[in-house]
Amino acid sequence: MEFNVLILGSNSALPAHGRHPSAQLINIHDQFYLMDCGEGTQMQLDRYDAKKSRIECVFISHLHGDHYFGLFGLLTTYNLMQRTQPLKVFGPLGLKKMIATVIHGTGNELKYELEIVELDFEDGAQLIFEDREARVVAFPLQHRIPTYGFIFEEKKVRVKLDGRLLDQHKVPEGMREDIRAGKDFTDENGKRYPASYFQLEQITPGRYAYCSDTRYFEKLADYVKGVDLFYHEATFLDSEKERAEKTLHATARQAAETAKNAEVGRLLLGHFSSRYKSLNDFSKEAKSVFPHTYLAVEGDVFSID
Ligand SMILES: [Zn+2]
Ligand SMILES: [Zn+2]
Repeated sequence: MEFNVLILGSNSALPAHGRHPSAQLINIHDQFYLMDCGEGTQMQLDRYDAKKSRIECVFISHLHGDHYFGLFGLLTTYNLMQRTQPLKVFGPLGLKKMIATVIHGTGNELKYELEIVELDFEDGAQLIFEDREARVVAFPLQHRIPTYGFIFEEKKVRVKLDGRLLDQHKVPEGMREDIRAGKDFTDENGKRYPASYFQLEQITPGRYAYCSDTRYFEKLADYVKGVDLFYHEATFLDSEKERAEKTLHATARQAAETAKNAEVGRLLLGHFSSRYKSLNDFSKEAKSVFPHTYLAVEGDVFSID
């Protein structure tokens, strides 16, 4: 029952310093979702032994090339691999036309079912996808063209109870669901046991938020309130704050401020500008505001717990 994120690309705009444009592979209980698909994503999937044939859905944050130019190659590869499983792609308005132009321009037709879902809303969070294992919610970011952030949430896992303890204390079958829900139990001698005594593990659904690209805005903290892991772009350091504002990007410090306001579990920084070869200062700057900060290093896997 794993829930984790494999970093495939963490640079902004262009490949540099061994870093690739944006892409991540999200695994929720063995269902695989691709988040953004910058150039080189296929090679990165191969490099880290990720099975690209198992990707069920692709989510594209926006139509700047560093977030989806790898998609056309991937769609074509699936054809060559004789994919039969349907594929869903979510992204902003315009994606459908873009894919049709590139794919049809090759003179080939896809042999598998491709469903493209275009997002077109300017406010609020919307549930856009749900399957057996996960829910995905999208919400608007603030960038130069329509851009969406996403929250991946695993579906609620039942609390497990210790069957041996239940038997030992002669808990009637009919009371087990109450204990699962958190109700205390009083035995025949009047002794009271808290529900946690019988609960093997209390599991709450994990939530992962992906926010790239965006300028700093206060409402973002509301959208991602309390997520376990929060990926936020940090194209620049705070010394380039003006440039960030002009290009509608964010700095490491701003990402950390949103993480702090949203009371997230951990912050993951990425989408670094090519002007920075070393990323040490990103870590330092963000940690001064939000200590639980990590850098999205390609090949690294981050668990959502
Ligand atoms: Zn970008
Ligand atoms: Zn962009």
